[in-house]
Amino acid sequence: MRLTIIGTGYVGLVTGTCFAEVGHQVVCVDNDTAKIKLLASGGIPIFEPGLEELVKKNVAAGRLSFSTNISEGVQKSEVIFIAVPTPPQPDGSVDSTFIERVARDIAAALTGYRIIVDKSTVPVKTGEKVAETIKRYGPAKVDFDVVSNPEFLREGFAVTDLMKPDRVVIGTRSPRPVEAMKNIYAPFNAPIVVTDINSAELIKHASNSFLALKISYINAVAAICEITGANVQEVAAGMGLDERIGRRFLNAGIGFGGSCFPKDLSAFIKIAEEIGYDFRLLKEVQIINRGQMDRFVKKITDTLWVLKDKKIGVLGLAFKQNTDDVRTSPAIELCQRLQKEGALLRVHDPKAMTKARAILKDVTYVDDMNAVADGCDALVVATEWDEFKKLDLERARKSLSHPIMFDGRNLFDRSEMERRGWVYKSVGR
Ligand code: NAD
Repeated sequence: MRLTIIGTGYVGLVTGTCFAEVGHQVVCVDNDTAKIKLLASGGIPIFEPGLEELVKKNVAAGRLSFSTNISEGVQKSEVIFIAVPTPPQPDGSVDSTFIERVARDIAAALTGYRIIVDKSTVPVKTGEKVAETIKRYGPAKVDFDVVSNPEFLREGFAVTDLMKPDRVVIGTRSPRPVEAMKNIYAPFNAPIVVTDINSAELIKHASNSFLALKISYINAVAAICEITGANVQEVAAGMGLDERIGRRFLNAGIGFGGSCFPKDLSAFIKIAEEIGYDFRLLKEVQIINRGQMDRFVKKITDTLWVLKDKKIGVLGLAFKQNTDDVRTSPAIELCQRLQKEGALLRVHDPKAMTKARAILKDVTYVDDMNAVADGCDALVVATEWDEFKKLDLERARKSLSHPIMFDGRNLFDRSEMERRGWVYKSVGR
């Protein structure tokens, strides 16, 4: 099928590329001319495992192209996906200006029946508003359908998630676009859930809020473990074997971050508030998440006392492993909290240093993870990159003025670290 994706970011670029990979003809549109120029010249604006090769392969095969021209994209394709940002406003509600702008641009370019699919994460009833907007600004006699098709990809695993989705949600009020949507997704062999449009929109916010809740739950359990001398990893392993619970998202740490969970959680709380429901459960999830960072910073200050002029090495800047994304990264927040106390930081991340430079200033960026500890008073692990497990611990121990590690991601074995002579503080054990 001929498909246009408007918004060529983490979601739009990976979705467009995977659609091309299964044989669709895809145009990825963005109003960021530098990004489109980079893509058109063979560059890639984000790091996502396996993506670069797939982009190159599908561009070469003539199935994937890039453009800054929305109206061309709307005219060329049968189905138009919207994958633009839905950032939070200061009060936590969703800023829908990007979606509204695109809805008007699509309306202006409509000449015949099109299916307009929203992939961005949006408040329930946004699809209805998009339809109203297109009707208002579009040509009177042209028919169209609006579909909600929320995206569940995880950054760092986006290509795998797109190629092998757990489920595909198709939300629509009209039966007309369902067959086309099923055809688009047929090559992915995933269970397809067809719902009304409001339910589809809610599935996304309800899912992300539930996952955030699961993380806060284990972080709260970690606090109890610390007080009682239990080990949160053993507790999580024991809980996780229960199929009703599952082991995933039961990793205690410095709290969740990234461009989705914090924003989707506050959006869901706000959406509920606007319709008269006080979602206190989710407010508590936020409180636990903030407390988790506070407790970790306190662990550092309790041990090192005054941080002013202390040198601290930090491993990890991305909000999680396998990505270069630093948006609302807990690792960056942790660095900024330590800087505020006067600490001098040496930092390293395998993929996120370029993006971090734009927001984290006055630190020393170190290319080699094994050199981060050089001349420092302590080492902090802030992101759960697998490769940090291969850190040369002997070198780090000798480079530090005193071998102290604060492991915010429980990457190392506590008894082994203590046996090797480390003062080792982790989370919930
Ligand atoms: P992003 O910032 O990486 O990409 C969005 C792109 O849209 C940018 O390239 C931007 O230039 C472009 N854009 C903005 N306005 C435009 C316009 N008027 N015309 C054309 N292009 C325009 O964002 P993202 O992470 O891909 O997220 C997009 C949406 O998907 C959000 O609603 C997000 O919540 C949701 N989502 C994100 C993820 C994720 O892991 N990143 C996962 C699932 C859902």
